[in-house]
Amino acid sequence: MGLNNTTNLNDSIVTTTLDHAINWGRSYSLWPMAFGTACCGIEFMSVAGAKYDLSRFGAEVVRFSPRQADLLIVAGTISYKQAPILKKIYEQMCEPKWVISMGACACSGGFYDNYTTLQGIDEIIPVDEYISGCPPRPEAVLDAIMNIQKKSHDESIMKNRIKEYKGYLDV
Ligand code: SF4
Repeated sequence: MGLNNTTNLNDSIVTTTLDHAINWGRSYSLWPMAFGTACCGIEFMSVAGAKYDLSRFGAEVVRFSPRQADLLIVAGTISYKQAPILKKIYEQMCEPKWVISMGACACSGGFYDNYTTLQGIDEIIPVDEYISGCPPRPEAVLDAIMNIQKKSHDESIMKNRIKEYKGYLDV
């Protein structure tokens, strides 16, 4: 083999870290699960429709089991009666996992400032992205999903990803 046949390896080898490769794949294959309880849940249906094309972000495979989802989207009013169910669903999801709080009700109870309504889901579970609005526009939900994609790049297979529950309400 002559010198002219020598392969220029710079053109054919890509170096990366294992974390970076896994996070790259993870960020483009989020599996969302919507916990829709009210009007924001209906708005999420339009996000998942053809017009807004969630598959551009690799997030179109909406799951109906928390064990198959890594992105929980809470869309709607959460009553204290529902709160333990939401918390259980979060706990059933495998790590790493992320949470989007969609709309005023999920973020803060909205205008339901009364004895039946949880005043924000971050009283019981960690939230990664908050979306304001009543209801939020689909573009705002897409923006939150892109922010989750960026956050997923910080994951490491070496670090303990179990999020602490200290400080969250025991419902
Ligand atoms: S934030 Fe507004 S649209 Fe969303 S669930 Fe609450 S009342 Fe309905």
